[in-house]
Amino acid sequence: MKGFRYLSNVATLRLDRETCVGCGLCLTVCPHNVFTLQAGKASIIDLDSCMECGACALNCPVKAIVVDAGVGCASGMINQWLAGFNIRFRKDSGCC
Ligand code: SF4
Ligand code: SF4
Repeated sequence: MKGFRYLSNVATLRLDRETCVGCGLCLTVCPHNVFTLQAGKASIIDLDSCMECGACALNCPVKAIVVDAGVGCASGMINQWLAGFNIRFRKDSGCC
């Protein structure tokens, strides 16, 4: 999965740094290294790598993370694949 990117700046991931207790679980479970720890709190360093799998929010003990987990991962992979083939959809194609 390394190198896959989601659509730019659209991931629903949100982090409440005030609530974060710095346990580091989100760093451990995130497969895309979206987070780092800064000054004892989690920080989002690569939002566009987030595939919205929901693992971080599920494991955060203080519910400091919110993400709309759904089809983001699949969409991201498909978009990346299509981009590799330089495929574009017409606006009136009814897709997306
Ligand atoms: S939703 Fe998944 S990919 Fe996104 S930051 Fe959380 S663990 Fe990482
Ligand atoms: S899992 Fe939650 S409390 Fe732990 S570092 Fe991440 S955001 Fe902070």
